[in-house]
Amino acid sequence: MNTLLPGATIGVLGSGQLGRMFAMAARRMGYLVHTFSPETDTPTGQVADVEVTASYDDLAAVREFASRVEVVTFESENVPAATVEAIAGIVPVRPDGAALYTTQHRLREKTFLERAGIPVTPFRHVRTLAELSDALKTIGCPAVLKTAGFGYDGKGQRLIKTLAEGADAHASLAGQEAILEAFVDFEREVSVVCARGADGQVAHYGVVENAHERHILDCTIAPARVSGEVAREAVELATSLLEQLSLVGVLCVEFFLARDGKLFVNELAPRPHNSGHFTIDACATSQFEQQVRAVCGLSLGATEQLRPAAMANLLGDLWQDGEPDWRAACAFPNVKLHLYGKHEARPGRKMGHLTALAPTADEALSLVRAARAALTRRA
Ligand code: AMP
Repeated sequence: MNTLLPGATIGVLGSGQLGRMFAMAARRMGYLVHTFSPETDTPTGQVADVEVTASYDDLAAVREFASRVEVVTFESENVPAATVEAIAGIVPVRPDGAALYTTQHRLREKTFLERAGIPVTPFRHVRTLAELSDALKTIGCPAVLKTAGFGYDGKGQRLIKTLAEGADAHASLAGQEAILEAFVDFEREVSVVCARGADGQVAHYGVVENAHERHILDCTIAPARVSGEVAREAVELATSLLEQLSLVGVLCVEFFLARDGKLFVNELAPRPHNSGHFTIDACATSQFEQQVRAVCGLSLGATEQLRPAAMANLLGDLWQDGEPDWRAACAFPNVKLHLYGKHEARPGRKMGHLTALAPTADEALSLVRAARAALTRRA
């Protein structure tokens, strides 16, 4: 594929906030963006040049979309393989269908990681109740049952504390394939966002620290408060995965850091990630610009972090008592507001985020939390 220069048209599968921030980076650089998803008036569609609304299974619509763009990328790995195949027959898809296929299914992803010699938490494949009972005996309790496909933000996940809870947990799967995973009593969660260009060039944003609430990312602290050794190992593991997946684009690798200092890979995302949102305000090149550069065949940009930062998600819960007080958050001069244009604020739904910049990561975290608290402090 030739390098695509500004003026070219990029297609994005999916239409959420990741596509929106990608489209903003692409349009800033002079590219045109078409988005494809089953929805309309979407976070991505609002800022794209063209919003196509059709089902991923409508392959005629998918081909029509592909015929109007020069490369296709995605903002979610939950896209059917047949859709990607149909596109790949017309224009390149970056990252390619193989990377997507591996990472969109927990069992395939874990099996790939295990074979690649990457440390993962012990797991078993579970279909029947008998398999679950066996798995609970070998893995032990507590354990986490996760549906194998199409899960995110803790959806399709269930903590099993005792063997007796097995039958109930299995029933909740409603026939879906799953994996049972050992529960990790981690010290903290960290992630590495990295990128690989079409020429094999690799770049990374170092290790960041992630705090979750109800299985949903709450805050990211960049850089992570971990030892140099842990940071080096996490970056080495993440960048080796870029090579092993031959991925062209952005990859996020999420880890559990155990109390004894060992790292386990929890999950891969072959696209920009919520834990990399701080890069928009804090780094020389954002993760979204990096995705644009990689999928268009340009050189990657510098990943240097210009200031310590912390990001806090704004979930729909903040709207419970009415519109948040934007003026109060904007009164913090070193806090940046990002809203995704979603019309309905549901509990747990990611509506936007704040990023704070400060002399240290700890100060940035206090600042971003204070700014978020100010949003709902009523007079
Ligand atoms: P996931 O969708 O697998 O990334 O899970 C979302 C969040 O749930 C993780 O970031 C953890 O906070 C928690 N979680 C998932 N799996 C485990 C596990 N095996 N042990 C402990 N916590 C987990």
